[in-house]
Amino acid sequence: MSLFDEIVIGWIAVAIVLFPIQLFVTAPYGRHTRAGWGPSLPNRVGWFAMEIVSLAIFATLFLVGPAPKSAPMWVFFAFWVAHYINRSMIFPLRMRTTGKTIPLVIVASAICFNAVNAGLNGYYLGSLASYPVSWLWDIRFITGAAAFLAGVAMNISADEKLIALRTGGVAADYAIPRGGLFEFVSCPNHLGEIVEWFGFAIMCWNLPALSFAIWTASNLIPRALSHHAWYGKHFDDYPRDRAAVVPFML
Ligand code: NDP
Repeated sequence: MSLFDEIVIGWIAVAIVLFPIQLFVTAPYGRHTRAGWGPSLPNRVGWFAMEIVSLAIFATLFLVGPAPKSAPMWVFFAFWVAHYINRSMIFPLRMRTTGKTIPLVIVASAICFNAVNAGLNGYYLGSLASYPVSWLWDIRFITGAAAFLAGVAMNISADEKLIALRTGGVAADYAIPRGGLFEFVSCPNHLGEIVEWFGFAIMCWNLPALSFAIWTASNLIPRALSHHAWYGKHFDDYPRDRAAVVPFML
């Protein structure tokens, strides 16, 4: 096993260790913002700062790396870049979040996560990987790409629905989301994001992409469980038959 593979496996181990901790300590942003987490930044600035790191580092390492770039690799590149253009620029601009802040400690830890994650994936694809053009017809590429795109559709449509719920513009306002996947789970945006990065891992079939999928699940399953519990506590009429993030299961 190469040193690079050992580093990625160590990185996966960190995600697994953090998973149970995140079940008990909810990250203090969005509806879970609370005092005692130090200085904070305006929400939009924080989201841009956290997520642009992933776009910049991945794109740079991919483009400057010496590995010959075949057609399937350009598809990986396009999927990653499109996701992070949305997450770093479009999503923060669309949020109805005026006056809300995000703790600096969350922004700093997300920047560290994104730097390592984009570093591992960008370095692997830019410098170590080799995919023949025929990978485009491989069942892993096709099913993974289909899952990625389905995840994107779930994630973006759910985020849009949530953002549209805040009609009055008061950032503290929340309502019960209804319709579509919200009838089955409290957090289809988180479900979509998890499906998206497992799809990416399947289509790339490499260890760094798998590590990103595991990290996404490790971050977002606890967050979805916290959101689900929060809804139950704040709305007496919250539908009791909804799961948190996996329909009928979790
Ligand atoms: P949330 O579902 O908490 O919030 C999404 C947006 O909708 C926020 O602007 C939020 O406002 C608003 N909102 C949410 N619920 C309601 C409601 N019931 N009524 C009114 N407005 C609502 O998403 P997260 O903040 O957890 O994540 C945002 C995006 O980032 C998601 O797509 C998620 O998948 C992705 N993400 C990915 C991670 C990864 O590891 N890959 C990690 C974290 C996030 P407010 O902020 O004021 O609560």
